[in-house]
Amino acid sequence: MYDNYREHLTTHLSEIREAGLYKNERIIVSPQGAEITLDTGQTVLNFCANNYLGLSANRELVEAAKNALDTHGYGMSSVRFICGTGDLHKELEHKLAQFFGTEDTILYAACFDANGGVFEPLLTSEDAIISDSLNHASIIDGVRLCKAQRYRYENADMEDLETQLQLAQEQRFRLIVTDGVFSMDGNVAPLDKIYQLANKYNAMVMVDECHSAGVVGETGRGVTELYNLRGKIEIITGTLGKAFGGAIGGFTTGKKEIIEMLRQRSRPYLFSNAIPPLVAAAGIRMLEMMTGTNDLQDRLHHNTKYFVEKMLRAGFDIKPTQSAICAVMLYDAKLSQEVAARLLNEGIYVIGFYYPVVPKDQARIRVQISAAHEIEHLDKAVSAFIKIGKELKILK
Ligand SMILES: *Cc1c(COP(=O)(O)O)cnc(C)c1O
Repeated sequence: MYDNYREHLTTHLSEIREAGLYKNERIIVSPQGAEITLDTGQTVLNFCANNYLGLSANRELVEAAKNALDTHGYGMSSVRFICGTGDLHKELEHKLAQFFGTEDTILYAACFDANGGVFEPLLTSEDAIISDSLNHASIIDGVRLCKAQRYRYENADMEDLETQLQLAQEQRFRLIVTDGVFSMDGNVAPLDKIYQLANKYNAMVMVDECHSAGVVGETGRGVTELYNLRGKIEIITGTLGKAFGGAIGGFTTGKKEIIEMLRQRSRPYLFSNAIPPLVAAAGIRMLEMMTGTNDLQDRLHHNTKYFVEKMLRAGFDIKPTQSAICAVMLYDAKLSQEVAARLLNEGIYVIGFYYPVVPKDQARIRVQISAAHEIEHLDKAVSAFIKIGKELKILK
């Protein structure tokens, strides 16, 4: 059997290669940070990690994790409801709820699991999910696992959302679902308007804060802070794998009865291991760091503003962003790959995205800013962009 199947896979893989869609992975041999070393020996400035607050290799988090190894061991060897709940898990859940101004939190191995396990236990075929067309893959998969009626609206299009809400009036309960920040453009979901429409059409709201937690809002509390909606949104999901230290782990936080039901019925919670105590301990430390001062968030906001302003002044076309994601628009797929390759030669590590990851003729370089970037790093990146922009006649 496998001979035939191997041939089938080999053919399919070469099609992926020929289409230019094959994903090659670069190998990093240093900790994740503003500057990283590749296995080629090359040291580059990293502008493509989700390390928004520069915490991936933060000394205090590493210390907290090391201490927890001594006090709590390595793994839990259990799901939460059997014997996988530690004091650190409970403390982290409590601190996440405080951070977001919510009532309770449930941890998962990843936000992919949080999103995969949130819909099915809460809604049935009598209900409706109204989802933004650019929502993350894990939301799309989670919605597929649920029997609720599905409605889809164009990205951040409030007229379309209203139409879908009108169509969904037949159903018993309605849940509008949106990413907080859309990862390809860096735009923020118009949560203020979504919330108004939810009230008008009697719906609940869920926001995935993966790219916004720690980033958006004056103190990094996410889009609910930006729009003054703390405590008003029924469900928030998020990750410990981006701004929050970058290791692993996800969560759902929100109304306490919702969290209680998820603890009873959410399959990725019930049938998958508890996160390691060292991850919970570092998570607790991370939230303490973000509560004591606003230094990291301020630095990130300052860095983002600095980079965007310099790039706009240089003549680059950048999508309006309210996050730490800057989409440098090049429109042409091949050009995006050429620019990314030349930037790497200049020591700047970024990724060029093109169809089907972004719409046709919307190819771009996605730059992700971090609080770990020094002003020299940002200057070096802008200079490299300008040099290559001139070489390739992107800039006049
Ligand atoms: C990264 C991301 C996820 C997945 O988070 P993990 O914890 O890495 O599984 C989910 N939703 C959005 C919007 C994301 O950006």
